Amino acid sequence: MVLSAYAELDLAAVTYNLTRIRAYAPKAKIMAVLKANAYGHGLLRIAKVLADADAFAVARLGEGIALREAGITQRIVVLQGFLDREELEFHIRYGLEPVIHSPFQAELLEQIPSAEVVTVWLKLDTGMHRLGLLADQFAPNYSRLQNCPAVRRPIPVMTHLANADVVQDTFTGQQLDRFNSALHNLQTECSIANSAGVLAWDGTRSGWVRPGIALYGVSPFPGRTGPDEGLKPVMSFRSRLIALKDLKAGDAVGYGGEWVCPRPTRLGIVSVGYGDGYPRSARTGTPVLVRGRRVSLVGRVSMDMISLDLTDCPDAQVGDEVTLWGKGLPVEEIAQHASTIPYELLCGVTPRVKMVERWE
Ligand SMILES: *Cc1c(COP(=O)(O)O)cnc(C)c1O
Repeated sequence: MVLSAYAELDLAAVTYNLTRIRAYAPKAKIMAVLKANAYGHGLLRIAKVLADADAFAVARLGEGIALREAGITQRIVVLQGFLDREELEFHIRYGLEPVIHSPFQAELLEQIPSAEVVTVWLKLDTGMHRLGLLADQFAPNYSRLQNCPAVRRPIPVMTHLANADVVQDTFTGQQLDRFNSALHNLQTECSIANSAGVLAWDGTRSGWVRPGIALYGVSPFPGRTGPDEGLKPVMSFRSRLIALKDLKAGDAVGYGGEWVCPRPTRLGIVSVGYGDGYPRSARTGTPVLVRGRRVSLVGRVSMDMISLDLTDCPDAQVGDEVTLWGKGLPVEEIAQHASTIPYELLCGVTPRVKMVERWE
């Protein structure tokens, strides 16, 4: 069968990246982050490939339940925790570990009568100011949970870094100081690092580390790529050339006629568009790989198609495979051309794109 838009997933690269991450943080345990359908790579698929991860983290309860129902037995941390009593009971039933980020969650835990039925992670807000207890709420809520019969002790503690992808930013140091001073004599498990922490920040690589994007072979740092960090990209997003045509100088291409041929132009049409998750914000000049050569996207991205200037790639044929991002064309670079980040591109690949697994 000829597949048009498809995503080839190099699953051996996932385990390779896990090994690389262990080498960066040899003393740490790894909580592999699988939120948003494993950054678009498939929640269950990636969980199964990562059998060697020490634990998993997901954003939401439903993702944790899906992992348990598929037979995943590792610890699973639910980063957003529970919103009400019913969600708390689901965490207990499925053996999931909610993150406690707000006092209302401590109140709900106090209403659970049974002894030691749930492991929770207490989250300290050290400056991200999204989820987590503020410094002055931390100690009272920690002791409150210590005294809560339903909660297993000692209670692990985590925080999240806001600027770790900017390696010269001093804010990460401040966040670390705040975390360490809040925890100064607690003997418990801790977790600080995301991928950027693991790859670049010494003080974050102890206890549990929580890599996401690095597992998928992508760099969290602006201007760098996965291979720059010694990682292998997992996803290669591909499709095929479905038409070729020769246009005259002055002919306009696509909706709005935004791009006008500056010279006699051989145009190629590829079967991929924003309906597949190729970003509509990708501008003229965004690279696409055809026959191993970089050519330019021209004109607007449509729902199901894009146009390429193939004038300098005269051997291209209808049916040729093209790479939108992945091996040989870093997704980080495409993100830059589309004014976004690789995270958004990876998790934006839509369900109509077939996932093809490979072990290379
Ligand atoms: C998404 C997320 C991570 C992983 O971040 P990456 O930059 O993908 O490594 C870690 N911790 C928390 C709380 C997250 O939300």
